[in-house]
Amino acid sequence: MSTIIYPSPIFGPVHSRRLGISLGINLLPADGKVCSFDCIYCECGFNKDHRPTLPMPARELVAERLEQQLQQMVADGQLPDVLTFAGNGEPTCHPHFAEIIGDTIRLRDKYCPQAKVAVLSNSTMIHRQEVHDALMLVDDNILKLDTIDPAYINMVDRPNGSYDVQRIIERMKAFNGHLIIQTMFLKGNGIDNTSDNYVNPWLQAVREIAPKQVMIYTIDRETPDQTLRKATHEELDAIRDRVIAAGIPCSASY
Ligand code: SF4
Repeated sequence: MSTIIYPSPIFGPVHSRRLGISLGINLLPADGKVCSFDCIYCECGFNKDHRPTLPMPARELVAERLEQQLQQMVADGQLPDVLTFAGNGEPTCHPHFAEIIGDTIRLRDKYCPQAKVAVLSNSTMIHRQEVHDALMLVDDNILKLDTIDPAYINMVDRPNGSYDVQRIIERMKAFNGHLIIQTMFLKGNGIDNTSDNYVNPWLQAVREIAPKQVMIYTIDRETPDQTLRKATHEELDAIRDRVIAAGIPCSASY
């Protein structure tokens, strides 16, 4: 198995471990990756190995292709559980992210009103007011917080440019509970965020943010850094149980 570059702007439907039958919306170019992180576990590979030559899809194209796909799914009697913004990088990097969220909610309401709209984001753009406001409109605003340790973030998530985790935490609090925190736990190459010295401060930050849910998971596909290993079931279960004991619903995907 190798890393994946997804079609754009629509891919799937795929069966997601965490979300069910998911129709993917990829706002990044079809031939490469655009992300404000460069995670060593990214299923799309390292940024440097997947520089795109194509542009991001235009707002109009996203709406047109999404409507075509939803019409097809209605005709086939196979409606999605969720319309998921994900794909080759960070969806909120798209300059018309907010408008596209508006278009998507309109099309969801027209063709599959029972489906959720979900965004998987690395949280780096949530300081932008238009991104914050758009994320307030989606059903599942799923934001990454892998740790609160700056050295770990620099080693594992590898932000492009400046990244202040305390500022991210403050911006997460501004959603007033309208967010789901997603956290990747893994090990390898001198890395392990499953131990108490990582989990304790992370859990304290999660309590302060007070999300409606936490999703913890571990690597599932091939990663660009091939030394990485999964966190074990037992480790994930123990972390999940601590989140639940703090009064916050939490799921673990192995
Ligand atoms: S934030 Fe997501 S898309 Fe970006 S590098 Fe990390 S795993 Fe890949």
